[in-house]
Amino acid sequence: MQADKHLHPCCCFIIPPKMLRKLALDADEAERKLLLDQLERSAFIRGQRAARGVAAPGLVASGGEKHRTVYDAGHGTRLPGKRVRDENGAPVADTAVNQAFDNAGTTYDFYEQVLRRNSIDGNGMRIDSSVHYSKKYNNAFWNGSQMVYGDGDGKLFNGFTGALDVIAHELTHGVTQYTVPGGGLVYEGQSGALNESISDVFGSVVKQWHLKQTPQQADWLIGAGILAPSVGKALRSMAEPGNTAVTWSGDDQPATMAGYVEDGDVHTNSGIPNHAFYLAAMKLNVNSWEKAGPIWYQALPLLRSNASFLDAANATVKAAQVLYGTGSSEAAAVQAAWREVGVMS
Ligand SMILES: [Zn+2]
Repeated sequence: MQADKHLHPCCCFIIPPKMLRKLALDADEAERKLLLDQLERSAFIRGQRAARGVAAPGLVASGGEKHRTVYDAGHGTRLPGKRVRDENGAPVADTAVNQAFDNAGTTYDFYEQVLRRNSIDGNGMRIDSSVHYSKKYNNAFWNGSQMVYGDGDGKLFNGFTGALDVIAHELTHGVTQYTVPGGGLVYEGQSGALNESISDVFGSVVKQWHLKQTPQQADWLIGAGILAPSVGKALRSMAEPGNTAVTWSGDDQPATMAGYVEDGDVHTNSGIPNHAFYLAAMKLNVNSWEKAGPIWYQALPLLRSNASFLDAANATVKAAQVLYGTGSSEAAAVQAAWREVGVMS
């Protein structure tokens, strides 16, 4: 496949630069310096990713089984680091290693058992993770070929390996990259917000599947547990985008097109398709992995790299029609959800 740097800037960080910048404003001097250094490092990693293009073909494992490996970066920035656990290895003393291993496994199992997909690329791709990246690093990211986790500074962020939705969010960026024709969704504008939203959607669905929660029982939060209480409770809410009481003080997500931010950050406008998914799941009124999730998943190959919100709405309605019939209540529920957020008229 031809690497195109515009189409593959898919080095997604779970903590958007915007959030780190806002936290830096309120931090003491030492903390501010740490956050700003990390922002600089993130920009550097993104640059490397863009230059490298898509994942190397050597990462594809043979057979239809999970192939997880966890590495310890030893608080350095060289990847992947020292190999500390692989697929057949027993749990080790390091909690972060086991969490990264287990949560990657749950995400793999979800895609395999629920959506019949063999790993990130649909072709048995190895799932590599590195923990203890850099020092007090306040982020986790998918670099196009592996997962990377910081430990958090313990002051603003608690660490990232324990949050299943965070890991499923990141791995889903890989799924999108390999499934949307043309190499994924361009990471800017509406296609970028859709890219983010699809990762939040499956982040939440994987968590709901793991916890066996109905849409009514689910918290619909992204990143619950990774923030220190002084920062907030979660990064985003799919049920109530922009409700800072359930997320954090800087949450500026709109829930509908009435609040759409022109030239807004991809993590801002993603609130709109996120809320459409939440509404669809509530209307469908069964576990999100039974109908809403599969409908969204089947819509991915119908998208193009520059898809708009309306394209996504049409693709999910189409996918519901294919799965359940043209005049089905499922297709009507999906359409009603997109109408409610103002994407369809
Ligand atoms: Zn993301």
